[in-house]
Amino acid sequence: MLTGIHFILTYTCNFECDHCFLYCSPRSQGTFTISQVAEVLDEAKKTGSVEWIYFEGGEPFLFFPLLVECIRQARGMDFKVGVVTNAYGAFTEEDAALWLKPLAEAGLSYMNISNDSLHYGDQEATPASIAIRVAERLGIETAPICIDKPKVEEQHAEGGTKGRPVIGGNVKFRGRAVEKLTGNLPLRLKEQLTQCPYEDLVSPSRVHVDAFGNVHLCQGISMGNWRQTSLSELVKNYEAQKHPICGPLVRGGPMRLCEEYGLDMKDEYVDECHLCYAARLALLDQIPAYLAPRQVYGLL
Ligand code: SF4
Repeated sequence: MLTGIHFILTYTCNFECDHCFLYCSPRSQGTFTISQVAEVLDEAKKTGSVEWIYFEGGEPFLFFPLLVECIRQARGMDFKVGVVTNAYGAFTEEDAALWLKPLAEAGLSYMNISNDSLHYGDQEATPASIAIRVAERLGIETAPICIDKPKVEEQHAEGGTKGRPVIGGNVKFRGRAVEKLTGNLPLRLKEQLTQCPYEDLVSPSRVHVDAFGNVHLCQGISMGNWRQTSLSELVKNYEAQKHPICGPLVRGGPMRLCEEYGLDMKDEYVDECHLCYAARLALLDQIPAYLAPRQVYGLL
């Protein structure tokens, strides 16, 4: 059951991280207007099941007045509200309070804050750690997001044969992470990549919406376009088996996606997401309505 709508409030970001699965950067376009946000919030209400609204990016603090008003409107409609940020402006506790107090007053209940070496190198007192302290003092619950450069941690035994490498760091190999972080990692035969490990594509509990209208089931896989068909209709009518990308993924993972479309792929990939993303890139021009926006594929 769908319980969360996550707004990609903007694709613009002050950072350009190697692991970003949306390919965000300071040059990325695509920011919601306040009337678009209001339209999607109304639709979220109509679903009857959505409880949580998240505002994320890109970096949503880059559009601070918009962010404050979005939180105020969502809270006013009785949604629980969260924000995902890298907290770039929290240089001191005093500065962090300048950013966070208006959000607390608007009704923010939860913040996920990126606090890792891919954002802040080996800095000790990161803006993220300062923001976490101040947010909690203001009554906003927080959780850090910590992603590190991928490295092989151990081998999982598989039926007494050669072990399967386990790659630590929590990077998802989609978007820029494929371009920047897959080199030198161990590979697996594509025939082994027969299920989607992270997303419940049959009954998603949350979707991400963007200003172009895309309703992402996973980054770059769109359920449809909320600017053409209302979000509540899209959610009501969604059937994974009939979706041109999710159908094959549900039937047999990324390998099945390649087989059903007769794609000529390489023999080995880092993991399921790596093959899935590569297959979708190959299908981009064939199924543009469901593989969007091109931003997520690094093509703008
Ligand atoms: S296999 Fe594909 S759909 Fe599943 S989580 Fe990975 S990238 Fe997303």
